[in-house]
Amino acid sequence: MSVLVVVECDKGEVKKSSLEVASYGAQVAQMLGTTATAVAVGEASEASLAQLGEQGITKVLYDAEPRLKDFVNGAYTKLIAAASEQEQAKVIVLANSNIGAAVGSRLAIRLKASLATNVVELPQANGNSFMVKRGAFSGKAFANVVLSGDRKIIAVKKNSIEALHNAGQTAQVQSFSAQLADADFTDAPKQVVMQDQAGGVLLPEADKVVSGGRGMKGPENWNLIEDLAKALGAATACSKPVSDVDWRPHHEHVGQTGITVSPNLYIACGISGAIQHLAGVNSSKVIVVINKDPEAPFFKAADYGIVGDVFDVLPKLTQAVKELG
Ligand code: FAD
Repeated sequence: MSVLVVVECDKGEVKKSSLEVASYGAQVAQMLGTTATAVAVGEASEASLAQLGEQGITKVLYDAEPRLKDFVNGAYTKLIAAASEQEQAKVIVLANSNIGAAVGSRLAIRLKASLATNVVELPQANGNSFMVKRGAFSGKAFANVVLSGDRKIIAVKKNSIEALHNAGQTAQVQSFSAQLADADFTDAPKQVVMQDQAGGVLLPEADKVVSGGRGMKGPENWNLIEDLAKALGAATACSKPVSDVDWRPHHEHVGQTGITVSPNLYIACGISGAIQHLAGVNSSKVIVVINKDPEAPFFKAADYGIVGDVFDVLPKLTQAVKELG
């Protein structure tokens, strides 16, 4: 019996959100007096998988089938279910990512497991049940949910759990075959086109985000956003009206109807802070708001607020970041 952790990898590396998920799974395993095994999906290197020992993982299963490099819902579900059977996993922990959300619900049906998404804390065990805290109503509230039954699936929200780093610990990497057939790849993508992200930082995984709203006045001023993002190593984002009028591409739009981000740092430039925008960003660790209107609603959600004109503040801020290195 073990806890199974689903680890997402990209270009050979384990994603940061999966380091948190691995740490979460290891702590649940410790709570249950068992060990945490990981099953890796995506393009992984053996060295990066072995390093999951630092997060408390003892063993990593990896199916080197090349068609698993990109997300395929049916095949990923079968792979994780097979690993779960082999390990007799009572608890499966995955990221509350697009992949985690898609696979988690399928797994719950397949394994007759109870599922909680958007989980923000370690569970409290009560007999065979778990009480878990999850974000609800676009992060405006929390719900305590009881997971019962023999199998439980927990999708952990990014940035809710500190990743463990026990330097020097390594996990044993084992090859694993889920005996996948062509029929498992019927929903495989024909081609994966990477979105062109400024600075090369993918928005959903970004640790820092610089975001612009209508206060930026037009696309010709986005160099101010990009310069700050580049200096910080951040991804760029925008409010919905900005992408609606094609100042920025739609994949940069954050909020209720766009991407949800939870970086360590979110800098909002000339964004009013409408509830629909906040829904996608309010779980960021530190929110900095730059707005010339001191009454802008975003200031209520801000950790730091700068009342000022973006055209004045942004160049100075970028310069200061560059000077600090
Ligand atoms: P504005 O509301 O026009 O605000 C611009 C801000 O810039 C103002 O606060 C102003 O004071 C400030 N400003 C102006 N000039 C300067 C300057 N020179 N320096 C500094 N500050 C300046 N919105 C989203 O963002 N994401 C969503 O997912 C989303 N989903 C929605 C879903 C629904 C169903 C609906 C009805 C709306 C949705 N919206 C969403 C739209 C949302 O309600 C707001 O209209 C939108 O977020 C406002 O964008 P904004 O803040 O960029 O623009």
